[in-house]
Amino acid sequence: MTARPGRPAVLRIAPVTTTAARRGKATLLQSMTTLNDLSGCVAQFDPQALPVSAAQQIVLQWATPLAASERVPLVDALDRVLAADVVSPIDVPAHDNAAMDGYAFDGALLGSTSAASASAGDRQLRLPVCGKAFAGHPFERAVAPGACVRIMTGAPMPAGCDTVVPQERVELDGDVASFAADAATRGANRRLRGEDLAAGRPALRAGRVLHACDIGLLASLGVVEIGVRRRLRVAYFSTGDELRSPGEPLAPGAIYDSNRYTLGAMLRRLNVDAIDLGIVRDEPAALEATLRHAAETADVVLTSGGVSVGEADFTRAQLQSLGDVAFWGLAMRPGRPLAFGRVWSGGHPGAGRAALLFGLPGNPVATMVTFYQIVRPALLAMSGADAQPVPLIPAVCNERIRKRPGRTEFQRGRAARDAHGQWRVAPTGSQSSGALSTMSAANCFIVLAHDATDLDAGDAVDIMLFDGLV
Ligand code: AMP
Ligand code: MG
Repeated sequence: MTARPGRPAVLRIAPVTTTAARRGKATLLQSMTTLNDLSGCVAQFDPQALPVSAAQQIVLQWATPLAASERVPLVDALDRVLAADVVSPIDVPAHDNAAMDGYAFDGALLGSTSAASASAGDRQLRLPVCGKAFAGHPFERAVAPGACVRIMTGAPMPAGCDTVVPQERVELDGDVASFAADAATRGANRRLRGEDLAAGRPALRAGRVLHACDIGLLASLGVVEIGVRRRLRVAYFSTGDELRSPGEPLAPGAIYDSNRYTLGAMLRRLNVDAIDLGIVRDEPAALEATLRHAAETADVVLTSGGVSVGEADFTRAQLQSLGDVAFWGLAMRPGRPLAFGRVWSGGHPGAGRAALLFGLPGNPVATMVTFYQIVRPALLAMSGADAQPVPLIPAVCNERIRKRPGRTEFQRGRAARDAHGQWRVAPTGSQSSGALSTMSAANCFIVLAHDATDLDAGDAVDIMLFDGLV
């Protein structure tokens, strides 16, 4: 990349070798390693046209996982991040058991043409039924050679039995079960002890965000309480003299604050401890007081508004005196301006407690897109979550889309699979960074890569479904 007129030259700085960086990530947030130290590690560092991937890379260097953990009752562990590997203390299932309702018997009989009860001609087995086994009520006596046991799903397999013939394949003649030898193969319809989880094997890994199935899996191991990372504390506020909260009257020129509501909702989805600090007026003392309070109480501070050209000077001076903050122009749309860095509660770098700061753009869709692309991965990493990148799905674009190379675009789209199973997508309308209505009408982002140019109808694009995101 070469320097452009009116833009700072691309910085290429040697990889970080500061002591704090060498000590490892755990201390980085509270260290005096500067943003400049770390930004220099990124190959394409142009702060005024910073590729999304480069910004993500820089941000993630500061996203050090929280060390603190706590124990919570299993029923409260949904969406929490597992603090340590869980090793299965028992075999699940605890015993070989029936996978179907039927008759349990020794599968060796299937191959035995000499068994007294088997007729060699039509390969029918005739096995006397010597008892019953229910889930929770095992058949505990010995099974006589050549006999079978009536068994229900989940009941332990009686000793000496390894096969279940489903009841639908059996004819009962008094106390004798008869069925064709091909109604079951040896070992059929039997679940083996430990086949789900064997004792001593890792059941779940540290960093796992606990889903409903994991809560059930832990319950199947007999877990009552589980160690999870402490919740990340994220303070957030809106800035702007024009903003009013819903419920207040709208003065001339005023608008309702929506960003605090989208941010609050997105944070709730990430299951962080979200701290709403309200609306802060465009006034230096108010901004400073709120930022210092936020750095004292939270791990991360999110603001929206006040970082675009024209407003940035006042915010810039404020943030730079309180912390180590860079003002970037991201090569992305929507969502160009972003302030990123750290602020300290003591009022200047190194004084008191540091919190990571994201100053998001004010336009409502830009706020959301920047949150998803830049903030979300950082919050997940700081939460200790072993999060996978949100998958991109190949789709066919139904409309022509204009695209300027040199920035990643996240257009609001509506996608569906056609009769051939092919994903098809079209933009939902206005792509203005303020238009929440077209975001609301969308079910995905159409992701137009950094170098992509105009697309014709029928061209291939990638989509990122909102499901699980929004
Ligand atoms: P700013 O970055 O502060 O210049 O804001 C850019 C645009 O976003 C302006 O039109 C603001 O009025 C609008 N905006 C800023 N903050 C909010 C908010 N919290 N809710 C809705 N719109 C906002
Ligand atoms: Mg503003």
